Amino acid sequence: MEPCSKESVDFSTDLNKNNSVSATISDPKILDCHNCFKPLCAPVFQCENGHIACSTCCSKFENKCHKCSKCSMDIILQRCRVIENLLQCIEIPCPNEKHGCKETITYSRKRNHEEECVYGPCHCPHPDCDFVAIPEELSKHFSNKHRSSRIKFSYGQFFTLSLKSYDETIVLQEEMDDKLFILNHSSTILGTAVNINIIDSISSESEYGYVIWAKSKKCCMKLHASAESVRRVTSPILSSEFLMIPSGYINSSPSTELEIRITFKVTSYLISCIT
Ligand SMILES: [Zn+2]
Ligand SMILES: [Zn+2]
Ligand SMILES: [Zn+2]
Ligand SMILES: [Zn+2]
Repeated sequence: MEPCSKESVDFSTDLNKNNSVSATISDPKILDCHNCFKPLCAPVFQCENGHIACSTCCSKFENKCHKCSKCSMDIILQRCRVIENLLQCIEIPCPNEKHGCKETITYSRKRNHEEECVYGPCHCPHPDCDFVAIPEELSKHFSNKHRSSRIKFSYGQFFTLSLKSYDETIVLQEEMDDKLFILNHSSTILGTAVNINIIDSISSESEYGYVIWAKSKKCCMKLHASAESVRRVTSPILSSEFLMIPSGYINSSPSTELEIRITFKVTSYLISCIT
């Protein structure tokens, strides 16, 4: 059984802050969805046996309690206003407080805030390292500790690299601002899929665009896309946008040569094959 973590919270009994009281929830997991274990936010649903579900799980299981259905019981979920009100009244410090976030949030905002928080920690992309920090510190760490494991580049300028025959994650680091990008390379039954992510806390639309060219003697393929942000590398990362280089496309050389350019603020993408 997992140990209960303790979390100090403000238990406001009234919207007037003067009437608030402090309490400790000995097991904050009771405020998580019983199915997906993510923090609850309104609307919240409950079955008559006391199982709590978030709105995502409620829709996913067609308004029926998933826990009860495992025991062959078909029980419809109902809105649980008590828990919704409770979530709205509980205030907690941002879970990224230790990384510098000063925000106090209601528990019902925890789920969204964790995704948006600019202090969300990012994981070092080096395969043998478990360092975790905000993006600026991670960039410095990578420059200091893994200097030989990166390819340096400058925004707006083309650079060339060759892919090995196996799946790999290549770390790219910008010359001036030290931001870290990842070139993902994954073998599929159709060929080799490649794309680029930026390591960053914010998961909204990226301000960074990139172009990848794969050239052979007779033709070339190009992907023009925006670099989605990721907080950690789970190899391989392939978003909906990637360049598929068909098997045998570049068969004159033992490795696949790519030309790459990373720039600011390019959000549209285009895949073209020029013959
Ligand atoms: Zn859920
Ligand atoms: Zn149930
Ligand atoms: Zn935060
Ligand atoms: Zn590291």
